[in-house]
Amino acid sequence: MIPTDTLGKVWFVGAGPGDPELLTVKGRRLLEQAGAILFAGSLVDQAATLYAPPGCVIRDSKDMTLEDMTAWLAEQARAHATVVRLQTGDPGLYGALIEMARPLTAAGIEWAVVPGVSSAMASMAAAGESMTLPEVTQTVILTRVEGRTPMPDGEDLASLAAHRSTLCIFLSITLMYKIEAALRAAGWPEDSPMLVVHKASWPGEEKIIRGTLADIKARCREAGVASQAMIVASPTLGALHWDTLVRSKLYDPTFTHRFRKASA
Ligand code: SAH
Repeated sequence: MIPTDTLGKVWFVGAGPGDPELLTVKGRRLLEQAGAILFAGSLVDQAATLYAPPGCVIRDSKDMTLEDMTAWLAEQARAHATVVRLQTGDPGLYGALIEMARPLTAAGIEWAVVPGVSSAMASMAAAGESMTLPEVTQTVILTRVEGRTPMPDGEDLASLAAHRSTLCIFLSITLMYKIEAALRAAGWPEDSPMLVVHKASWPGEEKIIRGTLADIKARCREAGVASQAMIVASPTLGALHWDTLVRSKLYDPTFTHRFRKASA
């Protein structure tokens, strides 16, 4: 058994959605200090190579199994103080975080997570849209539709869509027909606004596609978007151009709160 005090620490770092400038300051510092970096496929290699110090061991995980990855991370933690597993967006969303962390814990290797800007946030930012609006929706659901990974009971999209809140749908661009069927089953009208963002925040590659429940699939096809896309269905979409909007209480002149007295 190797003494724990000679072991390095594994950091699961959220790389953000693609733009290297959307990495956190902490994530960047850890990359700059890293003795070894394991990055998730083509989605994040730019950040890894930009900030890694000379001599850092850098490896792409795209051809590795989970067992290969945890074995590699554990091995590197025996040789380096700082080991980084760089993941797209936030590591806690569809990132196999716990599966990778359990064997590390079992091996007595310390690990921690640095959150990242999720592609859900980056997609709404790219389109200049808000996830929440007063008296429209105050709730966001981050979900996916069933592909090879089954959905747990009670989480089928039609039941989630019944809330009429903002839905950010990951990993599902090739399953748009299932999304449309679920929204229709939940009673969303054909003119419900929808948004698809391909490669949100990627310099020069981002595509923003706007449409409705009736035509979003065709618009994505026309734009050639069939991968790496966030799908958003939300009653907040397009609010920039609405005739009337309910104001946020916080900034309302007639509303008193801890930091400001009502002025009207
Ligand atoms: N942990 C990541 C999600 C990983 S799952 C996060 O927090 O964003 C991979 C899915 O995320 C893709 O199928 C796509 O739906 C979405 N995604 C990742 N990067 C994206 C980007 N730059 N633009 C749009 N969607 C993206």
